[in-house]
Amino acid sequence: MAQQSTETDWVSRFADEVVAEAERRAAGKVTSGASAPGTGVVVASGLSPSGPIHLGNLREVMTPHLVADEIRRRGIPCVHILSWDDYDRYRKVPAGIDPSWEEHIGKPLTAVPAPPGSPHANWAEHFRAAMEESLAELGIEYRGISQTAQYTSGAYREQILHAMRHRKDIDAVLDRYRTKDKATGKPKKQQQKPVDAAELEAAEGSGAAGEDDGSAGGAGYYPYKPYCTVCNKDFTKVIGYDDETTQMSYECVACGHSETVALREFDHGKLVWKVDWPMRWAYEGVVFEPSGVDHSSPGSSFVVGGQIVREVFGADQPIGPMYAFVGISGMAKMSSSKGGVPTPGDALKIMEAPLLRWLYARRKPNQSFKIAFDQEIQRLYDEWDKLAAKVADGTAQPADAAAYTRAVGTAAGELPRTPRPLPYRTLASVVDITAGHDEQTLRILSELDPQNPVASLAETRPRLDKAEHWISTQVPADQRTIVRDEPDEELLAGLDEQARGSLRLLLDGLDDHWSLDGLTTLVYGVPKVQAGLTPEAKPTPELKVAQRAFFALLYNLLVGRDTGPRLPTLLLAVGADRVRRLLGG
Ligand SMILES: [Zn+2]
Repeated sequence: MAQQSTETDWVSRFADEVVAEAERRAAGKVTSGASAPGTGVVVASGLSPSGPIHLGNLREVMTPHLVADEIRRRGIPCVHILSWDDYDRYRKVPAGIDPSWEEHIGKPLTAVPAPPGSPHANWAEHFRAAMEESLAELGIEYRGISQTAQYTSGAYREQILHAMRHRKDIDAVLDRYRTKDKATGKPKKQQQKPVDAAELEAAEGSGAAGEDDGSAGGAGYYPYKPYCTVCNKDFTKVIGYDDETTQMSYECVACGHSETVALREFDHGKLVWKVDWPMRWAYEGVVFEPSGVDHSSPGSSFVVGGQIVREVFGADQPIGPMYAFVGISGMAKMSSSKGGVPTPGDALKIMEAPLLRWLYARRKPNQSFKIAFDQEIQRLYDEWDKLAAKVADGTAQPADAAAYTRAVGTAAGELPRTPRPLPYRTLASVVDITAGHDEQTLRILSELDPQNPVASLAETRPRLDKAEHWISTQVPADQRTIVRDEPDEELLAGLDEQARGSLRLLLDGLDDHWSLDGLTTLVYGVPKVQAGLTPEAKPTPELKVAQRAFFALLYNLLVGRDTGPRLPTLLLAVGADRVRRLLGG
């Protein structure tokens, strides 16, 4: 094996494992995969476009993406299959959609009309398109496969007939996990209990969680469910099947239709989820496919699928780590136009693609984390910029440097970045104060560092646009900064000698300190000078109290509150003339 096992991070370790497994399979121990040999290592993800695809479900794609990308960086061909589970049934009408869409429940997602006003042909395409846009922005390279196209073209016909022939074997596997009722010995329906609504949403996006496994009472077990050819819904029941002729009889509970079809020519239905998934592992030769915690418990589709793929389809189960939920912190209600479900597209409006990639790259899949839509995003960006600086000067830890490299580019090249990445919190403060007024924004940004002034806003984009979107959609009105139009005469008149003196010191130093660094020195230095210390003196506890009082006074005079954006940024943003006027100079 000619792989360089760097062991620096979780991505490398999985890539080692996946490449070794692919080599073991290629060595002929196991023959699997209908796909032509030579396509390289196959990793897979599956997404159900049943509604807005939750930001948490991005992990379903990012985990195999990062592993595939590492394998490609090693020069080994690797295909990342993204199955769009768009032949799944339409299960429920999400919040915010016309309730009359309920009439479509039970149809394939591709047979449901798109939400009103959508330019897309159907429900699945509408939500898939939004996700595809985000995946492109994130630099994720994949081969999308529509399960509707696969099933309705008859691609899986042999696999379906095979599963039907082995229905007793499948039933026996499923039976190992059915919870038996002690009194009757009959299977008891298992209840899955998601922790909260957000987790339920996340679970729903990652495959057909909660779908029944095809157990069908007295008529025997069938792993296949037809969509009724009259009403196109799956409230159907298979009531007979002949292995010789493949004649299948079913009845539809929804419309009363019943018919007998030849399954070897019939492309209007699908294998139940717990059989569908392992069938595809075998069909595609998947070596790596992670799944959410909801799929990994005993009796879950990943565990059951592992037995079905071996015992029924004669192939191997992929390496499939469980990934933990990704939460969201502080997404403002005002931006939840899509029923309160934050999507990757929502995150990419407030943060650059490399930052979002980094959140996934730096955490092992089994570690949960939150994606910040609140003030925390500013701290996160500070951390990101610090890491970039460490990488640039070669002082980053190997694992941190690896996560950084995976975030800023892929095997195909670097992702677009902001040419001049000014601190996000500074940009946020500036656009907060200027309300996105370009000319004013440029004036302030060019004064931040007079030695090396920003010459055009383009240098600061797209980060500037992300900060602006964050301020305007995520920061509540009562936390926005509104600079006073007129001085607070009453407050100014009531100031004691000490306070007046501090304002005088500040105003006298403004011109000589008009830059971000200069004003930082000035605002911290004023209380020191007043206490008889030099501006370089180390702060004592008493001095810190004096600084806090001085800062609160400035905030009150400038923005009418006790707090606000960092003072040097605020002073630059307000402008020297207006600062003088508001501080009574
Ligand atoms: Zn029907």
